[in-house]
Amino acid sequence: MASSFAGPADLHLHSNQSDGTEAPAEVMRQAHAHGVRTAALTDHDRTTGWQEAGDAAVALGMTFIPGMELSAKHEWRSVHVLGYLFDPADPALRAETDRIRDDRIGRAERIVRSIGRDYDLHWDDVLAQTTEDATVGRPHIADALVARGIVRDRTEAFDGILHPREGYYEPHYAPDPLTAVQLITEAGGVAIIAHPVTSGRDRMMPVPYIERLIGAGLGGFEIDHRENTAAGKRMLHEIAAAHDLIVTGSSDYHGTGKPNRPGENTTSDEMVARLIARATGTTPRYP
Ligand code: AMP
Ligand code: FE
Ligand code: FE
Ligand code: ZN
Repeated sequence: MASSFAGPADLHLHSNQSDGTEAPAEVMRQAHAHGVRTAALTDHDRTTGWQEAGDAAVALGMTFIPGMELSAKHEWRSVHVLGYLFDPADPALRAETDRIRDDRIGRAERIVRSIGRDYDLHWDDVLAQTTEDATVGRPHIADALVARGIVRDRTEAFDGILHPREGYYEPHYAPDPLTAVQLITEAGGVAIIAHPVTSGRDRMMPVPYIERLIGAGLGGFEIDHRENTAAGKRMLHEIAAAHDLIVTGSSDYHGTGKPNRPGENTTSDEMVARLIARATGTTPRYP
């Protein structure tokens, strides 16, 4: 029997093991200070924050759900697949996250070289903004642009220089979403599509493709997320109801790197219980 846990649950938080600005323990303290009582750490393509975050969460009287946000790609769309409670030692999943993180480094270097032709920006500036071994992403390039005084904050960087229309953007290697869902599921985890219906370039995957993901073991959708559109949320609720899927709500907190606050969206106790019951890869940590 699973131990009991208590809401409010926020199942999407980032630390400096990827592109959040705070150490894993500090992320848990911030979540707790915002009233969250069940929290998941979901760094991009990385699980190294689990121990520290879990220790901090339990000490604060919170339930900790280990997670990750796995990078994937469907055609031109960047797709993020949240994985929960999978076995972090699963060889196939580890090989894939290693490959993604490796490729992200070369890709970030290419972006910086390209920006460096027009602005005073160098690779060392990015390294200075990156925790050792963290998953490198455009947010670290944004922080380097801020440190150089070229932009004010990450938002300005993403709206300007880092936006694909400016011509500096490069993609990185990522598996297709079907592979991502299969890897998480086969590692005993539960796969949930993160922010599936944002507006603009990364707009929703076609419904027939989403149905293939469901057939491959997709657990559900992150519906309550500030970047999902209202119309998109309604559509996802219909698909989720038709297939009896899990629906979550979360903040996607990145410390000071984004305006998102812990607990601004939450997941119901019923859905947390379903997530835990479905997973076989590892267990939550209870206070
Ligand atoms: P990348 O995976 O390197 O292409 O970078 C994408 C990451 O940048 C996402 O995971 C977000 O956390 C972050 N991001 C995207 N847009 C913004 C924004 N406007 N402000 C801050 N961070 C952002
Ligand atoms: Fe991020
Ligand atoms: Fe994401
Ligand atoms: Zn995220």
